[in-house]
Amino acid sequence: MARLVLKFGGTSVADVERIRNVARHVKREYDAGNDVAVVVSAMAGTTNQLVEWTREASALHDAREYDTVVAAGEQVTIGLLSITLQAMGVPARSWLGWQIPIRTDDSHGAARIGEIETDMLNTRFAERQVAVIAGFQGLGPDNRITTLGRGGSDTSAVAVAAAVKADRCDIYTDVDGVFTTDPRMVTRAQRLPRIAYEEMLEMASLGAKVLQTRSVEMAMVHGVPLCVRSSFDDPDTLKPFGQEGNETPGTLVCDEDEIVEQQIVSGIAFARDEAKITLHRVPDKPGIAASVFGPLANAGINVDMIVQNVSADGSTTDMTFTVPTIDYDRAMSVIRDAEDEIHYADLTGSTEVVKVSVIGVGMRSHAGVAAKMFEALAGRGINIQAITTSEIKISILIDAAYTELAVRTLHSLYGLDETT
Ligand code: ADP
Ligand code: ASP
Ligand code: MG
Repeated sequence: MARLVLKFGGTSVADVERIRNVARHVKREYDAGNDVAVVVSAMAGTTNQLVEWTREASALHDAREYDTVVAAGEQVTIGLLSITLQAMGVPARSWLGWQIPIRTDDSHGAARIGEIETDMLNTRFAERQVAVIAGFQGLGPDNRITTLGRGGSDTSAVAVAAAVKADRCDIYTDVDGVFTTDPRMVTRAQRLPRIAYEEMLEMASLGAKVLQTRSVEMAMVHGVPLCVRSSFDDPDTLKPFGQEGNETPGTLVCDEDEIVEQQIVSGIAFARDEAKITLHRVPDKPGIAASVFGPLANAGINVDMIVQNVSADGSTTDMTFTVPTIDYDRAMSVIRDAEDEIHYADLTGSTEVVKVSVIGVGMRSHAGVAAKMFEALAGRGINIQAITTSEIKISILIDAAYTELAVRTLHSLYGLDETT
């Protein structure tokens, strides 16, 4: 028999009725004789509320206490799911992060999972008990509760799957799988039956929040087969793992060579959480980039895209870069504080920008993807403010007002629209 980790996100456990539906998915796999560990998120909206309360309590707060508060949502859902499973005759018990324990580093609010002890879980599997594990949380080196960053239950699930050597990790969510772009924005987006780990990693890190980036990274490193699928499908009409008819529910995130028909572009992602800062007429001389980006790095601010213009007279240049929107105000004040070293003539910025990215491993072997992209956007009157590329992606920064237009245009351009 197989060993499975099933993860259910916030919308899938939003109320007791939905939790009952989740329990039926779990029961289907359990009744087929599989070892099952379930990882759950907090009920939809709960974590947002908890985060909001910590802010209301104090804008500046102790990150360890933030974690104590925001980890609370998952405690409720593991208990409720365990009760529901028991009522259906499935032996189950709830596990908080510290009870396993899922050990993490001490980066409160964005902790990384280190080691997961599996002895107790293995004993319970042998006793045919389902382990219902709280996602998003762990135990820090100082014995304090940690959390893994928003969307972190995906990472908990993959980490548990890697630790218990699961045959598959199923991420049940509120859409049918990974789509060519967010199906809530583009109705003609198509479900991808398969996507390569590397592409998924780019999609996630460039804004497709269907999986937390770190969960994909971890699945890739540990070779965990990852399946993204809908929790809203009728649990009783589906086949359990390993039985005929269960081969490809949703999207399988797998190695590139397991994908037969590889497209040049697999998907389009967008991220609204970047802000743009421009330094006008800074001296065009060695050391200037260091004087700008050094202080930002010291302040722990990540810079993403960078554009430096060549100056007309060779003496000054404009420099544009992006930072996470949450760091925007801080970044502006760091730059103002460094004005004496940088000597810029003017400083401007905007949070009304969006990064749109085109992703596909097929780009490695195909030229012209970028040229086509720029031409199509120009045709729509969309101005590109910054560009970055890697082997398998091209990202552009544009005015946020054009987000939908740009995503839809590119989605059609690369032949991703569903044809009905
Ligand atoms: P969960 O609560 O189950 O973790 P999330 O809200 O974190 O669910 O992620 C699922 C959402 O991700 C979907 O509702 C969808 O709007 C969004 N999403 C963004 N990009 C994509 C994509 N390319 N494919 C599928 N879903 C996407
Ligand atoms: N409940 C957490 C959040 O909302 C973790 C998760 O849902 O994955 O971010
Ligand atoms: Mg999520």
